[in-house]
Amino acid sequence: MDVSIVIPLYNESESLIELNEWINKSLISSGFSYEIIYIDDGSDDQSWNIIEDIAKENNNVKGISFSRNFGKSQALRVGFYESKGDYVATLDADLQDSPEEIPIMIDKLIKNNLDMISGWKKKRHDSYFFKKIPSLFFNMVARAFSGIKLHDFNCGIKVYKKEVIKSINLYADMHRFIPILAKNEGFDKIEEHIVKHQSRKYGKSKFGNERFIRGFLDITTLWFTNKFGRRPMHFFGLIGTIMIFVGTIFSIYLGYNKLFIDTNSRLITTRPEFYIALATMILGAQFFIAGFLAELILKFNLNKDKYSIKNKTF
Ligand code: UDP
Ligand code: MG
Repeated sequence: MDVSIVIPLYNESESLIELNEWINKSLISSGFSYEIIYIDDGSDDQSWNIIEDIAKENNNVKGISFSRNFGKSQALRVGFYESKGDYVATLDADLQDSPEEIPIMIDKLIKNNLDMISGWKKKRHDSYFFKKIPSLFFNMVARAFSGIKLHDFNCGIKVYKKEVIKSINLYADMHRFIPILAKNEGFDKIEEHIVKHQSRKYGKSKFGNERFIRGFLDITTLWFTNKFGRRPMHFFGLIGTIMIFVGTIFSIYLGYNKLFIDTNSRLITTRPEFYIALATMILGAQFFIAGFLAELILKFNLNKDKYSIKNKTF
């Protein structure tokens, strides 16, 4: 198997038949052998029935459906897990991405010996105010955080070498940052490819404004977990040590001053140094406890999200 095409979808019934035909048309002429994996992320429309029909008629089509809506990241994750191709492509189901780009991107991936290629919707057919402007800002932040020179981190159409998708751990809402996850796993030969983009033909966007704050929090988490995820004590312990050190200096000063210099002066609880010492010592201890807890959690590896599969067509 050359290529697996992984397609997460949530309530996209109107698009599916058209999409499947379009993919077949685009891939057959390329000469690659391919499979299409549809992951129904808990749709409550007719999507799953349509996928079952498509899978019955095409033996290179697999369908998986979730028991409820777990989100695009989990859908991609199970799609990646099930994919058998040497190369893996992802595609949105809403007919906004053009499947013709997939063979072109794979050729480029092979020729330039890359780990992944991300699409770039340079001419994007989406709302200016709700999609284009926020996305410009989002991509700027992602570039600054990661050092990866991409214009469109969250483009639905991407192509990977299979090793990349088999090694990344796609949890929470991290599909927005797959290039960063890949780089964190050591796959840093990443380029982009300008893709054709269409406006949404049916239905409406599944991501509302909550994606801004979630995206921002997720990228700070990524930065933190990449830097300290395997050694959290180095972060918490360092801050804790600095605080306890400061607290100790102030305590020694206060004690020495009270015992030997200013013996008859005011109570130490009326002095600002006392409160500095108190606050830094308590906070320092808290940081240490947080560090130990983080190390314990790491040790027992509780940091994975879960999905549960309801149906499969294979
Ligand atoms: N999607 C999904 N689960 C979700 C939300 C979206 O599988 O919880 C799918 C959706 O059906 C589509 C793709 O992810 O195939 C991209 O979503 P959408 O087109 O709504 O995003 P936009 O293009 O507006 O950024
Ligand atoms: Mg879309």
